[in-house]
Amino acid sequence: MKTMTCIICPRGCSLTVEKEGAEYKVTGQMCKRGKEFAVNELTNPTRSVTTTVRTVFTEFPRLPVKTDGEVPLGKIFDVMKELDCILVKDTVKSGDVIVENISNTGINIVATISMSLMMGVS
Ligand code: SF4
Repeated sequence: MKTMTCIICPRGCSLTVEKEGAEYKVTGQMCKRGKEFAVNELTNPTRSVTTTVRTVFTEFPRLPVKTDGEVPLGKIFDVMKELDCILVKDTVKSGDVIVENISNTGINIVATISMSLMMGVS
């Protein structure tokens, strides 16, 4: 038996998971997403990544970015290492892809803010 907290929504249900043969029995969830979360946590845990990358702009030295999906938990170190090497040289807008297929996960890194708005340029 394993216990965990569902992090899909702020309700934070306390889940209990038991393996029954090839199936998982999950209790404690207030909606069906809880079971999906618990089974994924045990079989293929994934996370979204939110961070910043460097830019060449002194007035805007770090650009907030995020993954456009979830990456396997075991790949997060590789993702962060790859992002450490990124230097944004153009003004970008929210949603622009900064890195395609980060660490061969099939997930892109996208900007979460429009630099021109923050820097007061058009
Ligand atoms: S089980 Fe449903 S209600 Fe509970 S935290 Fe997860 S998503 Fe939210």
